[in-house]
Amino acid sequence: ARKYVVKKYFEGVPKRSDYEIVDYELPPLQDGEVLIKTEWVSVDPYLRAYNRNVPVPYDQFSYQVGIVEDSKCPGYPVGTRVVTHNGWCDYSVVNVAKVSVSNTSENSLNVIYKLPDLKGLSPSLGIGAVGMPGITAYFGFLEICQPKAGETVVVTGAAGAVGSVVGQIAKIKGCKVIGFAGSDDKVKWLEEELGFDKAFNYKTVDVKTVLKAAAPNGVDCYFDNVGGEMSSVIIGQMNKFGRVSVCGSISAYNEDPTKMPKATILQPSIIFKELKIEGFIVTRWANRWPEAIAQLIGWIQSGHLKPKEHVTVGFDKLYDAFIGMLAGENKGKAVVQI
Ligand code: NDP
Repeated sequence: ARKYVVKKYFEGVPKRSDYEIVDYELPPLQDGEVLIKTEWVSVDPYLRAYNRNVPVPYDQFSYQVGIVEDSKCPGYPVGTRVVTHNGWCDYSVVNVAKVSVSNTSENSLNVIYKLPDLKGLSPSLGIGAVGMPGITAYFGFLEICQPKAGETVVVTGAAGAVGSVVGQIAKIKGCKVIGFAGSDDKVKWLEEELGFDKAFNYKTVDVKTVLKAAAPNGVDCYFDNVGGEMSSVIIGQMNKFGRVSVCGSISAYNEDPTKMPKATILQPSIIFKELKIEGFIVTRWANRWPEAIAQLIGWIQSGHLKPKEHVTVGFDKLYDAFIGMLAGENKGKAVVQI
């Protein structure tokens, strides 16, 4: 089998030479274990963000969809399609009893679950709109923002895996949705195909000016995927009792973690507007993932949620796909077909 190993900590943008592709022998199957052939691998921002949380060298983790090719676990016969966190490898062995979706311990990303019936949709959605990113959008927006019909919602990273689903859920809930993304093409897609009320290319507009015009009555909910200065500006436009769901801060992931980020003065907005600002990790709702998955599949079936993927083909292209995603090449979920 083959896998990607991270040999040294990333500095700035991850380099190809930070990785090594390693050939290795898989152990013979023991009772309770399954052999999984990888079909689809996810490349995500947290692969960059979590880099220093793990001692190097480590196997590159990520979610993946695979198919059981050999089994000594009766509940997971040959042919079962599964979602795991086995990362960038072409084959893997899992002891099913030792990992489960409701494991919320330190190693909470260590999961295996059967991909539900996607009713003819691509199994790759199991790591996208009906997988971890879609579930992040579902709980991170609905639980933390508690949106009400008629409210104004702002989403950053709006054309990405999580953001594009958040915006569509906000429309389903009857909100006015404003998105920020990094290209004119993405803006067009958000407005013309996903039904965003307004979208802007944050690279070419003054965020404060366009937001004031697009949300003259202020912002009630903000789903923050990027952090940084754009977030400070948006939080400054919030209404009283506004809610901010802090999902990610990708604008800082390639920064040197030993240097303190420049402080931004948010406190006056938070105090005088009595804002609720809450961070989360999607595994907080590990026991409720099936509920989100069922609802997301339902919305896709009914045409309310349009999933989109940015597909790269080939095990050897995993690094390029990862760097491309960090640079904003993707519309929707970046996935790699193995
Ligand atoms: P995306 O599909 O959104 O891909 C990343 C996108 O980030 C790029 O396409 C790019 O789009 C944008 N980006 C890159 N650099 C910057 C920058 N400096 N400023 C603004 N935007 C930038 O990724 P995901 O949907 O998978 O993840 C979105 C966010 O959600 C990330 O911050 C991630 O860490 C977080 N997340 C958090 C989870 C949680 O449990 N809290 C779970 C899953 C994701 P563009 O062209 O618009 O710049």
